[in-house]
Amino acid sequence: MASIKLDRVTRTFGTKTAVNNVSLEVPDREFLVLLGPSGCGKSTLLRMLAGLESVSSGEIHLDQRRVDQLPPSARDMAFVFQSYALYPHMTVRRNITFPLIMREFKWWFHLPIVGGMAKRKIEESPNVSDLVGRTAKILALTEMMDRFPRTLSGGQRQRVALGRAMVRQPQVFLMDEPLSNLDAKLRMSMRAEIIKLHREVGGTFVYVTHDQVEAMTMGTKIALLRDGVMQQFGTPREIYLNPANTFVARFIGTPPMNLIEGRLEEGALRIGEGVFALPPHLAAVAHGNQAHVLVGIRPNSLTIAAEGEGTLAGKVALVEHVGAESVIDVRLDHATTAHREEGEGRNEVMITESGYSDLRANDTVRVRIDLTDVVFFSPDSGLRLRPEPRGATPHPAS
Ligand code: ATP
Repeated sequence: MASIKLDRVTRTFGTKTAVNNVSLEVPDREFLVLLGPSGCGKSTLLRMLAGLESVSSGEIHLDQRRVDQLPPSARDMAFVFQSYALYPHMTVRRNITFPLIMREFKWWFHLPIVGGMAKRKIEESPNVSDLVGRTAKILALTEMMDRFPRTLSGGQRQRVALGRAMVRQPQVFLMDEPLSNLDAKLRMSMRAEIIKLHREVGGTFVYVTHDQVEAMTMGTKIALLRDGVMQQFGTPREIYLNPANTFVARFIGTPPMNLIEGRLEEGALRIGEGVFALPPHLAAVAHGNQAHVLVGIRPNSLTIAAEGEGTLAGKVALVEHVGAESVIDVRLDHATTAHREEGEGRNEVMITESGYSDLRANDTVRVRIDLTDVVFFSPDSGLRLRPEPRGATPHPAS
């Protein structure tokens, strides 16, 4: 199997830099997700890995082997497309077997009678039929091997496309938004299928998506891109808990992280009229850093509280009931929020609470902040503030 290393990979199209100086390394058997909004360069990066797009500069290594100058066929990677790309005139069995037939391709395979017999012979050979049979079993396709793609559902077609990639037994599976044509329910079950497949097949997977839920649930590593530049590379947990900047903070998590303007004062954080004592890990970040910060708070770190110390006053703007939890939008009286998006009101924070909330619009409430997972960002650069290294010289301005 294979480790992947990208070393300062760049791709330009005319004056447009689609992928800008991306470096990362994943060991064998990792599930790498390339994540980001539309146009961020994730498909271009995947296509460069596959050899379908050339690199403008930088290097791609598979294990110890440099592959960026090799043709796609020499890279030992299988590509699964969003559009399935099945052959409509072939049965499921033939679609899955096709890559194995192509391995032994001779020009006379094109001849109708002789070619047809030769292909069938390969298909029926014990090695091939055994491998195809096992693949079909893993993907629950055994019952539909003699059907044609047009008679299958979207999810079944995507499973055939996966089967066709699997029989090649490649070192690396490359997948470009393979679930985006499926409805929400099917996406969820196919997501689980692909996670299981990764465990069973064991290869290195590289998976492109713009859906952060897919990335968080499927990936063992996520590379989050924006305008061709990698914003953060890490495990889903690292990225969720320690977003590198406000873009990452807002992109990962539903509803997104709240960003509220705050001020650091002597071991405390002031937000609007509220003053909150900082726990040691946040006091360490505050030490030596600028006074004005953006305070990043996940919606589940906020709760509706009774009147009291250490709470912020506000009014309910909207309550959404999403099955097992409620999303409550609260307009804070004295605080200012940043990075509002379309549909979000001024000074509004989102709070998630389990169960069916009885709150209604315009109710007066107080909001409590659990500071455990709170992070601070610079309002100027958007970068996350980190504790100053021990022994560092204090900033002249502090
Ligand atoms: P999406 O999720 O919409 O597919 P993406 O993140 O996969 O987007 P890419 O398809 O990699 O993005 O495109 C990145 C940028 O490069 C875009 O601005 C796109 O317009 C540009 N681009 C991609 N391919 C070409 C090309 N062949 N010629 C010119 N520009 C291109």
